[in-house]
Amino acid sequence: MVKRWIKVVKNKIKIAVLPGDGIGPEIIKQAVKVLKVFGLESNINYGLIGGKGYEEFQDPLPKTTLDLALQSDAVLLGAVGDWKYDKLPRDMRPERGLLRIRQSLNLFANLRPAIMFSELIHASSLKAEFVSDLDIMIIRELTGDIYFGEPRGIGVNNQNEREGINTMRYSEPEIIRIANVAFKTALKRSKKLCSVDKANVLETTELWREIVIQVGKDYPEVELSHMYVDNAAMQLVKEPKQFDVIVTGNIFGDILSDEASMLTGSIGMLPSASLDANNKGMYEPSHGSAPDIAGLDKANPLATILSLAMMFKYTFNDEEKFNLIENAVKKTLNDGFRTEDIFSKGTNLIGCEEMGDKVIERLMV
Ligand code: NAD
Repeated sequence: MVKRWIKVVKNKIKIAVLPGDGIGPEIIKQAVKVLKVFGLESNINYGLIGGKGYEEFQDPLPKTTLDLALQSDAVLLGAVGDWKYDKLPRDMRPERGLLRIRQSLNLFANLRPAIMFSELIHASSLKAEFVSDLDIMIIRELTGDIYFGEPRGIGVNNQNEREGINTMRYSEPEIIRIANVAFKTALKRSKKLCSVDKANVLETTELWREIVIQVGKDYPEVELSHMYVDNAAMQLVKEPKQFDVIVTGNIFGDILSDEASMLTGSIGMLPSASLDANNKGMYEPSHGSAPDIAGLDKANPLATILSLAMMFKYTFNDEEKFNLIENAVKKTLNDGFRTEDIFSKGTNLIGCEEMGDKVIERLMV
């Protein structure tokens, strides 16, 4: 099966791999092992980003890396950042490279699954009955909303008092494109979509709700519901399993996706995808560069491997590879292998490199 698929796409796809800083290179190395299993090693091109980009080219997103990303079908990113760069001018800091690549690739749809692996249920702060088999997909609009709206800034008002201003805005086309991603994602899952807004008080999200309903007419198979964001925050911890796909704006999505991901208990397990209008995507773990454990072979590579799985599903439309990788990860956990962040008594503590090898062994059977 693997061989048949390779024949179809092997010579066509280009994957940019950007390991970045801290644990980035270690975790990316494990995901690259998976690409090797699928015979895709020669489809990879490496680039520098973050602190590594700054050190080599005095730019956290060097032109060569941006060009590489623009010419590729998908980007796999490790993580960026290190405390040693905190004193650099803002534009030179590693995180700036990340924001610029997201903007330059027009990655407006951020997909963050919160999946509870049954083997890790003890890691959740909620009781097992509330989170067992939990599988939520949060879709957050990533390039609009109050984070980007103008006017913005800190100034002085008519009463000569200092005031801060940010502007929440969404245009109709921005809402239409994220709604389409959400409905299409729901179609691939349980066909249930909950749109989160604050339409009772914010006109921006009143328009959001109106447009989502309109777009929904093109997807009659999907059951659409709406929820105010305050209620959604409460329902996520009260009865999280009522949700399947959630779609929301940038600021609400920022907060809700972090809340949902923590239901699963472990930051080292959480993948993410950021997509453009043609499903070109950047795939990266939700965690940072963990400088405290960099180079110690302690990092959990599973979020990165699961991000690669998402690449097959969302950019290459290959559900089969997605399932193969996800099942290999599940089997590895089921067989008791754990990195330090998810270790518990009675399980088998291994390092980053060995965790990668264990997944590969299970992928190849
Ligand atoms: P972090 O996510 O890097 O680390 C938080 C804690 O989680 C640390 O104790 C770390 O050891 C642990 N951790 C994170 N990933 C892990 C993994 N895969 N396996 C095991 N343990 C893991 O967040 P931070 O410490 O706040 O930030 C460190 C640096 O990362 C900063 O420079 C920050 O700006 C940057 N950062 C980058 C991204 C990104 O690249 N997308 C996201 C967040 C933070």
